[in-house]
Amino acid sequence: MVVNGLARRTPLIAGNWKMNLDHLQAIAFVQKLAWNLKDAGHDFTAVEVAVFPPFTDLRSVQTLISADKLDLAFGAQDVSAQESGAFTGEISGAFLAKLECQYVIIGHSERRTLHNETDEQVSAKIAAALKHNLVPIICVGETAADLELHGPSAVPVAQLRAALANVSNAADIVVAYEPVWAIGSGQAATPEQAEQVAAQLRAVLQETLGQDVADKTRILYGGSVKSGNIAAYMREPNVDGALVGGASLDIAEFSSIVRFQKHVGR
Ligand code: PEP
Repeated sequence: MVVNGLARRTPLIAGNWKMNLDHLQAIAFVQKLAWNLKDAGHDFTAVEVAVFPPFTDLRSVQTLISADKLDLAFGAQDVSAQESGAFTGEISGAFLAKLECQYVIIGHSERRTLHNETDEQVSAKIAAALKHNLVPIICVGETAADLELHGPSAVPVAQLRAALANVSNAADIVVAYEPVWAIGSGQAATPEQAEQVAAQLRAVLQETLGQDVADKTRILYGGSVKSGNIAAYMREPNVDGALVGGASLDIAEFSSIVRFQKHVGR
C-alpha cells in the first residue's frame, strides 16, 4: 500500500479468541464476521484480518474458509517447540501447517505467566514455527512492576532480542507489543506509549536482522484495543495493526476495529 508516496506495511488486525468459542460457535462466528466485513465493503488487501481460535476449532475454520473462499487468515494461539513424539498435550508446527494455518501466536503473556514460558522456550517455538513456514506473531510486553522498575521499553526489548536468537534475516515474522498491564484491563497504553516502544522494537529488528526485515516487519499493539481507540494507534508510524483479545469476540466491534480506515487517513 502506498500513502503519500511512502510504501507502508499492510496493516494486520488479529483476533485472539483465547479459550472461547467451540468449533460449532466458531463456524457461525467466522461466517458472520466475513459477511459483515463484505457487506461493509471491506478491502481485505488493504487491511488483513486474521482469527486465532482454540486448537479444537482450527479444522472447522479451515474447512469453512477454504470452501467459502473467505479472505480471512487464521492461525493457532501456541505451538510446541517439539516436532513429534511423547509430548502429551502438545501440538506441533507440522500439524498446524497441515491445517493451512498462516500464523501462530508465540509468547503471549498468558503463556509466559500462567504456564511459566521462558524466553528460551519462546525462541525455540519461533524456530519450530518458521521451520513449517508459519509466521510467528511474537508477543512481548512489560508488567506493571516492570514498568515501574525499568520503564516501558527495557523488558519488551530484552524479550524480543531473546526471541530472535534463532531467526534468520530472511524470516517473515510479526511482533506484537502487548503491555501486560493493558491486557483485558480496559487501561490501554496511550498511542504515544505504543509508538515509543514499537520504535524501539523496530530498532532491535534493524540491529539484529537488518534494515529490510525492520522495514517489512509488522509491529502490532495489543492491550484493550477497541473501535474507539484503534484509529489513534494506526496513526502512529511504527504501529502496523493490533492484536485484539476481548473485543475480537464481538463481531460488530471487531469489524469496526478492522475498518479503522473510516476514522484515519491510512
Ligand atoms: C490479548 O490478550 O492479546 C489482548 C490484547 O487482550 P485484550 O484486547 O482483551 O486486552
